[in-house]
Amino acid sequence: MNNQKKKIVVLGAAESGIGAAVLAKKQEYDVFVSDNSKIKDFYRDELIINNIKFEENKHSEEIILNADIIVKSPGIPNNVDIVQKAVSKNIPVISEIEFAARYTNAKMICITGSNGKTTTTLLTYEMFKNAGLNVGLAGNVGESFAKQVATKDYDYYILELSSFQLDDMYEFKADTAVILNITPDHMDRYDNDFSKYIASKFRITQNQTKENYLIYNADDESVTGNIDKNMKAKKYPFSIKVELEEGANLENDEIKFNVKETYFEMMAKDIGMMGKHNIYNSMAASLAAMVYNIKDPIIRRTLSNFKSVEHRLEIFQTIRGIRFINDSKATNVNSVWYALEAMDQPVILIMGGVDKGNDYSSLRDLVKDKVKAIVAMGKNNKKIVDYFSPFVPVVDCDSLDKAVMESYKIANEGETVLLSPACASFDLFENYIDRGKKFKEAVRKL
Ligand code: ADP
Repeated sequence: MNNQKKKIVVLGAAESGIGAAVLAKKQEYDVFVSDNSKIKDFYRDELIINNIKFEENKHSEEIILNADIIVKSPGIPNNVDIVQKAVSKNIPVISEIEFAARYTNAKMICITGSNGKTTTTLLTYEMFKNAGLNVGLAGNVGESFAKQVATKDYDYYILELSSFQLDDMYEFKADTAVILNITPDHMDRYDNDFSKYIASKFRITQNQTKENYLIYNADDESVTGNIDKNMKAKKYPFSIKVELEEGANLENDEIKFNVKETYFEMMAKDIGMMGKHNIYNSMAASLAAMVYNIKDPIIRRTLSNFKSVEHRLEIFQTIRGIRFINDSKATNVNSVWYALEAMDQPVILIMGGVDKGNDYSSLRDLVKDKVKAIVAMGKNNKKIVDYFSPFVPVVDCDSLDKAVMESYKIANEGETVLLSPACASFDLFENYIDRGKKFKEAVRKL
């Protein structure tokens, strides 16, 4: 295809935007990158090296609205002015994933869900790598998909897809789609309408044919309630509650896998990661591997050897018999539920931050059962203090250092201090990574 005359505008100059621009340039589009904030030096250099036109700290409408295609970063909501104007001019606005997929013949294994995406994506990638397959890792993790399509030649991609990416995907077809779970999150971007968020997640199945696969959580009603008989992909469900003929399910602490007439069993306790949620993640990743005929010894070995991903139930250190666990990535109530569920010692729970409209009631029983004290850490802890103090002592702190000190004072040998905030981190930190790192620094200082 000769794209010489086609104009592409990339909105947002971070990882995905720069990747899209590099790929578009390689495909001989006329490329322009626009970011209404300052572009990081690292990315600006990449634009200059690749001779790509760009602007920063503004969006020039006369250029942007003259594009044939706009590639939008997932961080930019659809309701911003410039996107609305482009849509009203019928300019296609697509995601970097949609764009890049047009230029690769690799098989795409795509993973979405409210929680567990990164863990499952990395686990699946490990299985493919351990099987000796030529596989790339992309989506929300690591180097952008578009950049890899421009510069590498993989046979498979394991792609982590958020709802924001899926929102701008139209023709994309997942060879294998995985839906891990759907619980309310990011409701501010979906008009507080849960059904809109579910529909966004289900875009991962659009365009699938009977040659494709759909792996999904059979225990999650928001998922099963939206699996449509008209979806043509071959379906492999997974469950820890019910018996299943095909797919994966748990029976008496043993996981049974059954895909394409290949059957094997594995004890749940042999999985390297802790918690029920990681049984789900392990089932999902293994089913994806089995679809591509990866054999059970490789799957078993990967599941046993794969420990936690940093900031996700990461067992950090034990000091004087007190175990410190960093689960900074737990930015919603559901992930805290699974963290508590996985705990086998009394817990001092550090939580708090920017509340995204949380409903804490689902945590009540687990907190009563397992939590010795809550240490609230955030600029405004009122909601946490009010909700939990009838059941458990709550200490109100305004910094992470203080919260770690207080927790250490409360904890005895054989107990766990767990950072699992249920909230976003922007009040005191740059992001969840910064929060997790600062937690570990504070623990090191004890
Ligand atoms: P995501 O990429 O979807 O945010 P992560 O793998 O980064 O998912 O995990 C985010 C948080 O959710 C962590 O606290 C982790 O322990 C927890 N978690 C992981 N998998 C699941 C799951 N299947 N269900 C619920 N919570 C999970």
